[in-house]
Order: sequence, then structure tokens, then C-alpha cells
Amino acid sequence: TATPTETPAPQIVAGTAPGFPPFEIKEDGELTGFDVELFEAIVAETEYEFGGWREFEFDALIPALRDERIDAIAAAMTITDERDQVIDFSDPYYSADQSVIVLEGGDFVPESLDDLSGRMVGVQEGTTGEGVVDTQLIEEGKLQESNKRVYGNYTLAVQDLENGNIDAIVLDQPVGATFADQRDVTVAFVYETGERYGFGVRQNDSARQQAINDGLAAVRDNGTYEELRNEWFGS
Ligand code: GLN
Repeated sequence: TATPTETPAPQIVAGTAPGFPPFEIKEDGELTGFDVELFEAIVAETEYEFGGWREFEFDALIPALRDERIDAIAAAMTITDERDQVIDFSDPYYSADQSVIVLEGGDFVPESLDDLSGRMVGVQEGTTGEGVVDTQLIEEGKLQESNKRVYGNYTLAVQDLENGNIDAIVLDQPVGATFADQRDVTVAFVYETGERYGFGVRQNDSARQQAINDGLAAVRDNGTYEELRNEWFGS
């Protein structure tokens, strides 16, 4: 007689890009943060087995998802039309605008994007923050391409800002506020974009998309979402 074989539960291997506090953080070698805890709680509500985390630079997440190195992206990723052409998204789980951060106590205190003209501005590659710099400043002729400094990770940009190598950084407002708490930087102003974050899944992977949406609804209903929001944002 044939030995009964167990069919392994289908998996969700998740990809993220640490260095984006408080959403994804590497602390003493441990991956944590709002997205990390929220996504694990969501998968626990589904019939999928959590297959662990893989870490990438933000810009490498969509290629990794498409190549099936990961099954989902949990990386404070804004749902955009451009991304929606190549991957699918869950329902939105967080809202954010952009912000501009500068050195705390420094001479440069911009009040609007126009004030960034002629300055050195840092962004993380492939982000909506980079999109704001491209469309609102460079394409408008207010900033030279050479005045944009592109980093693989915002943490490196913050170091460069503290060292005086750049004048400002454009990044998601909740992350700008967190860096302002932790580092020698301050939020100069907020630039409203009305972005919404979603978890990425492969195009036409409607099974995982549906499971994640149902899991998200479940953690909203059972209070876990609110608990994590309080834990990581205090609101
Ligand atoms: N929300 C921004 C984007 O989607 C930044 C995300 C990130 O850097 N992790 O581009």
C-alpha cells in the first residue's frame, strides 16, 4: 500500500526592505516593525503557512515577487497605477503623505518644495518620494538631476543628511517623523500626496490576494490591527 503523503500547506514567503521605521526595522539582528507584525498576524488568519521573511532593497522587491523568490511584499508600499500594471495589491492598510526632513537646528528650514531649488536632495530609489522629486522639481526645472542623490536605503540618506552631505530628504511622513524622534533631523513640512499602502502579490495570484484581504479584515475585527497601531504609532 502506498504511504500516505501529507500535502504541505501552501506558503506565503514575504519580502520587505528594513531601514524604514517604524514599518520595517532590523533591531539586534531581528526583523520587526508595524508591517512585520501586522503581516504575520494576517497570515496567521489564513490557510497559508508563513514561509518567513526575505530582505531586499526596496527597489528590488517587485522583481523578486515577479520571479517567485517571494510571494508577497510587506514594505509600506504605496499602491500606484504604475506598480498596479506589474503586480497586484491587497486592500489598503495604511495612509500616508510625503514629508521633507532637514538637519535639526540647521540653517536650512524649507517651507515648500520650491525652497528645495538648487539644494542637494536625497531620496530612496524607486519610491514615491523619488517620484515627487522627479515630477515636482526636476521636470519643473527647479532642480538639476545632479542635485538629486539616490540611495538604496533611507537610513543611508539620513546619515548623509546628518553629515551635511545633503540638504534635505523627501520621504513618507510617518517615517520622517520617526527619524525625527531618533536622529538629528526634523520634519520641515508635509507634502500631501494621500498615498495608501497595500501588500503586494503576484499578478493574478487571486488566491493569496483574497486570503490577505480576508486576514486583514479579520485582524481589524479582532482588535489586533488597532493594538499594533498603538504599539508602533501611539495612535
Ligand atoms: N511608500 C513609499 C513607496 O511606496 C516608500 C516605501 C518604502 O520606502 N519602503 O514608494
